[in-house]
Amino acid sequence: MARIGFVGLGNMGAPMARNLVKAGHDVAVFDLAPAAMAAVPGATPAASAAAAAADAAFVFTMLPAGTHVRDALLGAGGMAAASRPDAVLVDCSTIDVATARAVAAGCGRAFLDAPVSGGVMGAEAGTLTFMVGGPEDAFARAAPVLRQMGRTVVPCGAAGAGQAAKACNNMMLAATMLVTCEAFVLAEKLGLSHQALFDVASKSSGQSWSLTTYCPVPGPVPGSPANRDYAPGFAASLMLKDLGLALGAAQAAGVKLEVGAKALEIYERFVAEGGGGKDFSGVVGMVRGSGA
Ligand code: NAD
Repeated sequence: MARIGFVGLGNMGAPMARNLVKAGHDVAVFDLAPAAMAAVPGATPAASAAAAAADAAFVFTMLPAGTHVRDALLGAGGMAAASRPDAVLVDCSTIDVATARAVAAGCGRAFLDAPVSGGVMGAEAGTLTFMVGGPEDAFARAAPVLRQMGRTVVPCGAAGAGQAAKACNNMMLAATMLVTCEAFVLAEKLGLSHQALFDVASKSSGQSWSLTTYCPVPGPVPGSPANRDYAPGFAASLMLKDLGLALGAAQAAGVKLEVGAKALEIYERFVAEGGGGKDFSGVVGMVRGSGA
């Protein structure tokens, strides 16, 4: 069992840290919100992010965005300098590729970018997917710990590759969800039932995760957010954030993404109309013309 520092105990970080405590690790935690630290019973609350990092073999961050990660790890009194020289720093936040690479280059420690998919339910159940960028030896050391919080741990390549995988995956998810919503709305206008479209497309070439696992209309997939008035799930505001990261990375790389850009525009509108707190599949209401 290892000494682990964990910083950022929000919707995702708290259940992830709880799973590390459950696995028997000695976990020191820190969050700017003191109440968040109480959400991880059995962990030791630290006085600062740097104090949580000190003496730890693995230092995890699960923070909102790139600026928070850069400041927490590299800023004055930062966690990287406070950590052991042989520590592995693992950032599980979803952030931009450029910041992940800059932190990897500047932290002076082994650094992995390891964003996740699976949401709060996956974090609680310990079934997250980790997509990991960084050196192979650091990956080999951290992978057993990641498997205590997740079911699938994928090495993606060098620094930033985990964030690149996350951005590409979620852009595909946004696009398949939007076109699936459009197909259901077209079916409604053509007198084709939701169930009939589902029965055909789920067995045909229109098949996707957005259809078969996360169907945006109620009925065909009883567990999907459509059956609970689009309570998230995966909030549209987070999808918008991830699309922004994908489009930002594309711009920096000189790649034109016409479908991705359109998806970003549609989710911007959905969030502006008040849909940000809804599941991202709730965009079907806007596609139908009945509002966010
Ligand atoms: P959250 O807002 O619930 O939690 C973030 C936590 O970080 C808060 O408790 C906040 O107080 C803390 N924090 C912020 N700055 C800090 C600092 N400098 N030091 C210490 N604590 C600090 O966010 P979340 O939903 O847990 O998401 C975290 C990351 O995971 C984000 O990058 C998000 O995009 C990503 N993510 C979220 C989901 C999801 O379904 N919620 C799914 C996959 C990935």
